[in-house]
Amino acid sequence: MRVILLGAPGAGKGTQAILLSKELKVPHISTGDIFRSNIREGTPVGLRAKEYIDKGMLVPDELTLQIVAERLEASDCRDGFLLDGFPRTLPQAEALSGIVDIDAVINIDIDQSVLKDRLCGRRCCPKCGGTYHVNTLKDSLCPACGAELIIRKDDNVQTVTERLRVYNEQTVPLIQYYEQSGKLLVVDGNQSVEDVFAGCMVKLKG
Ligand code: ADP
Ligand code: ZN
Repeated sequence: MRVILLGAPGAGKGTQAILLSKELKVPHISTGDIFRSNIREGTPVGLRAKEYIDKGMLVPDELTLQIVAERLEASDCRDGFLLDGFPRTLPQAEALSGIVDIDAVINIDIDQSVLKDRLCGRRCCPKCGGTYHVNTLKDSLCPACGAELIIRKDDNVQTVTERLRVYNEQTVPLIQYYEQSGKLLVVDGNQSVEDVFAGCMVKLKG
């Protein structure tokens, strides 16, 4: 199955993507994770992407498309994949449609008022990719794998504000774009992790 996860920054895409990719047995492809690992490794892609990511801006379409096209060619994507954080602009969506047919697009729909607090209190596991909120953690270790949690450099008030602005301007139009193609499934993101996951599975099977 070839699935796209849409949703605002902080809507819970990453968390749901980990669960869904296990359940659907397809690779989880997060453009944000790919960029961050390139930044850690100091690759040319990472050096270019960092300038934009640190400011809360989108990485240019041309660079983003290049890394996604390369990733989708890998053999593990033959029977499906779950895209998290891509596409994020109309040109990206149009380019994707020229590469591969998508089966479903899930939009995790959430009240924007909670997003700033979620993102600014977010702690991330560099080892397993899990994300948590500082208010629900006992200490600084990942409850799933025990690694030391980190704060993403773009999870500060100023950058978060810009990311939400960019989301509303550039990514929201994709909701209508996929609605028109008849592939859009909307799941209420204002629920527990388990209930959002169950909602995604019900819609995918329906
Ligand atoms: P979130 O969904 O929490 O904002 P991601 O980890 O998906 O975070 O992405 C982090 C950053 O990486 C984005 O703010 C953006 O700068 C860059 N990025 C990720 N995916 C894309 C994309 N498809 N197009 C352009 N930039 C992207
Ligand atoms: Zn972990």
